[in-house]
Amino acid sequence: MAKLKLSHIYKVYENGHKAVNDFSIDIADREFIVFVGPSGCGKSTTLRMIAGLETITAGDLFIGDTLVNDMEPKDRDIAMVFQSYALYPHMTVYENMAFGLRNRKMPEEEIKERVMKAAKILDIVDYLDRKPKQMSGGQRQRVALGRALVRDPKVFLLDEPLSNLDAKLRATMRSEITALHKSLNTTFIYVTHDQVEAMTMGTRIVVMKNGYVQQIDSPMNLYNYPYNKFVAGFIGTPQMNFFEVALMRTGDNTVVTFKNGDSITVPYEAVSKIDNSYLNAGKSVVFGIRPEHIELSRDGFGLKFVITNIEHLGNETIIYGKLGDQLGEFTMKDEGDGIIVKLVDNDEFEVGDVVNAMPKLNKLHFFDAETEITLIRNIPEYNTVTAEISGNRFKAFGSEAVMPPVIAAAAEGERSVDLVIPPQAIVRGGDFRLKVSRIEKTEGKNLAYLENGDRYLFAVVDDGVSAGEDYSFSLLYDKIGVRAEEKQLLAPLGDEVFLEGRFSKKEKRENGERVIHFFYDICGYSVEAAKEHGYKINSIDGDNCYTYTYRFAINRDKLRLVQDNGLNAVIVEKLDYGNVCFAKAKTDDGQEFLIKVDKDFNGQQVRVAFDSTDLSVYSTRIDMILC
Ligand code: ADP
Repeated sequence: MAKLKLSHIYKVYENGHKAVNDFSIDIADREFIVFVGPSGCGKSTTLRMIAGLETITAGDLFIGDTLVNDMEPKDRDIAMVFQSYALYPHMTVYENMAFGLRNRKMPEEEIKERVMKAAKILDIVDYLDRKPKQMSGGQRQRVALGRALVRDPKVFLLDEPLSNLDAKLRATMRSEITALHKSLNTTFIYVTHDQVEAMTMGTRIVVMKNGYVQQIDSPMNLYNYPYNKFVAGFIGTPQMNFFEVALMRTGDNTVVTFKNGDSITVPYEAVSKIDNSYLNAGKSVVFGIRPEHIELSRDGFGLKFVITNIEHLGNETIIYGKLGDQLGEFTMKDEGDGIIVKLVDNDEFEVGDVVNAMPKLNKLHFFDAETEITLIRNIPEYNTVTAEISGNRFKAFGSEAVMPPVIAAAAEGERSVDLVIPPQAIVRGGDFRLKVSRIEKTEGKNLAYLENGDRYLFAVVDDGVSAGEDYSFSLLYDKIGVRAEEKQLLAPLGDEVFLEGRFSKKEKRENGERVIHFFYDICGYSVEAAKEHGYKINSIDGDNCYTYTYRFAINRDKLRLVQDNGLNAVIVEKLDYGNVCFAKAKTDDGQEFLIKVDKDFNGQQVRVAFDSTDLSVYSTRIDMILC
């Protein structure tokens, strides 16, 4: 029984290949976590780092509360089951299971007790005298599980344990392993490339691609709310249908136009979380719909297609088609006009029929064509709101307000701008006022749908705000962006300041002993680094670490103006955002950053201090968070 924590884990192999990037997850005790993704995405590498069979390039791995990065595999209290079973062919099943315990010099009596107990759980008592070659694949895999089981480990790691078994046996073993997990109450981490295994076994699933985590979620959330097109396509069979479309809002409706010119109309409500900027046919969008979320009719509304093939699977019918009403010439090439529909056992349709597909309106998926990220997030990333400008005032949300100086400067010369407002940058109290249409509980937060003209303004609100009330609010101007047409006039301020510098060490004699201290040096200002971070940077980059440049990300709220020991900088500009003021400071080596100051601040020269506990260190050599 154990919890695990992976914090910014990276693996760079000796040949320079980055197999795992910035992998972070908190795994609770007794979870069944599945790593899934196509071959080569970094699943096994991550599992092997947890096992201690592979070194961790950067990041922290905790089992329980212990940092185990440098701990030997045998001391980690984990057991690993491999695809290849890895049984000793000359030993009996009993000896195979007892082997590890004998190595640990466990008394024979206790070994026997443990082997018998595991053999009972796995139903292999009758085979204990056999050699592996006298057993079937499924039985051998149970022996391999048994060998892990007898160790009574804190964590079970399983690397594609079922991939050598035939389909039927795989299905049986799947439910046996799930049942085993329930009965053991131990943490399981399971690697597979098979999405069915992942969906049926995992309490949470980590979907990976090219060394990057794509989404960590429960099986149902992955299916219902895929974060991007890759996850959407990876989970579910047959795969989700994808079409390039343009979206056009017309009053209460939105028209979805396909590349062949056909279109379907869906109510605006079904796409209300999609940002305005995608709803005027200006940007290309990928529309996704699962085969099981399409209804077919011979006449009526929908997307016309010709049926090219039908598969009757007994309980369900899979219909393949080609958009349009003409079959045209046969081609294997996928031109994005293929469609797959899954119906419950149906013999109504025939190859050659022209039918209409109508997607279920609460099952629509849309993705940005370029980033492939979903356009319908539970909590929208931002709202785009047009503000009309006159003089130093702007009009938005049906009210007029004085523009804070920074916004006014950015918008100078424009008659209207788009404000890009994250839902978290809308805060209670202030001059703007909109009616709450409804409150949705999602991701542990309250998302308010505020009625802003003909669309919603999404805001994260406190408990106690309810539908029907007038919500008065103001904007955190430093967190919003300003755009005109496609041009960014002002970027939102992030929570971190980035500065470059060096890493150094000093040896001192303290009480007769030699003690090493590490430092981050930024333009003449030295901050002492935590010892473990110092050793970590040194072990990742070797002694070259004292010559490399590092990037330090410092929490902006933790920067302090001080009288003496601090980073020297001159103030080049003061930025008044209304809700908060910043000074733009320039270091002697020309780096600029913004620091929060009082409204009446008028200093010319500042010293800025911060602690090493408030910063993260990035490598500039290879894109990686070191600590
Ligand atoms: P998966 O388990 O998802 O199939 P792996 O974790 O085995 O993927 O591998 C991830 C990537 O790292 C792959 O591109 C693989 O070729 C590469 N890789 C694995 N082991 C090594 C190694 N020892 N040296 C260099 N590259 C490796």
